[in-house]
Amino acid sequence: MIGVVKIGGAEGNELGSLMSELATRVADGEKWVLVHGASGIMDRLCRERGVEIRMVTSPSGYRSRYVGEKERELFREAALAYGDRIKSSLADFGASAEFLDPETTEGVFADRKDVLREYSGGRTRILRGNYSGTISSVRGEKIISVIERGLIPILPPLGLDSGSGLSLNIDGDRLAASAAKAVDADILVILSNVPGLMKDINDPGSLIKSRTSEGSWEKLEEYAVGNMKRKLLACREAFDLGVPNIHLADGRVSEPLKNAERGNGTCLTL
Ligand code: ADP
Repeated sequence: MIGVVKIGGAEGNELGSLMSELATRVADGEKWVLVHGASGIMDRLCRERGVEIRMVTSPSGYRSRYVGEKERELFREAALAYGDRIKSSLADFGASAEFLDPETTEGVFADRKDVLREYSGGRTRILRGNYSGTISSVRGEKIISVIERGLIPILPPLGLDSGSGLSLNIDGDRLAASAAKAVDADILVILSNVPGLMKDINDPGSLIKSRTSEGSWEKLEEYAVGNMKRKLLACREAFDLGVPNIHLADGRVSEPLKNAERGNGTCLTL
């Protein structure tokens, strides 16, 4: 069995519960790949260095970060710093991990999105000079070789642009979906600071436990706003790629993987 789990990058994210559970499971012979975000650390670095945080909403309603040259370097710094923190947290629980920097391991590739489209006030504007990327390929064999050495692969939200040799920021949720396909995972768990997809984000009792209870992806997508839209898109991509078990679940509980597997989040495959 092989699993992929993604944790958010928000500041103050409790790493301990997931890292302790992962360490135990890997010691028991399970294989896991860990994908992380970097948004919270990136926002902090931007504030510290006086760089404006610029979030853009596309005409189709997806929010993303505008990444100029300065932001690209800061994002890389944020991703490396968070990866380090995760690696040392795993070490605290006795698990060894390897951070897969795409600039050195060439495991994840991306195409630069030079132009972002911003929809605001009823108008669409074109923003150039952007340095974020869209995932073009994930080399499953690079990730598997790390697992075979008894280590937990840590994938940051970075992809290598082969044209320029630069690492670009990519969406961590969609990276988790592509990685799950690339390693032929049995399960994908995307954790965040909510119990799963909810009909009303202020009411945990409105948690949607299964996709099929709602009928269609389109119906589910009606409930998602902001960052949840992209998480759902990532789940749909993983589903279309044939990942057999996909969960959106809570990262704040004591055993987040077990909690997801028990059906306490949103299962997108049932
Ligand atoms: P992470 O940093 O862990 O990737 P995000 O903050 O990007 O997490 O995404 C999770 C957020 O999505 C929640 O905190 C919540 O505010 C928002 N959200 C929007 N719509 C929904 C919904 N229908 N159900 C649950 N959360 C939602």
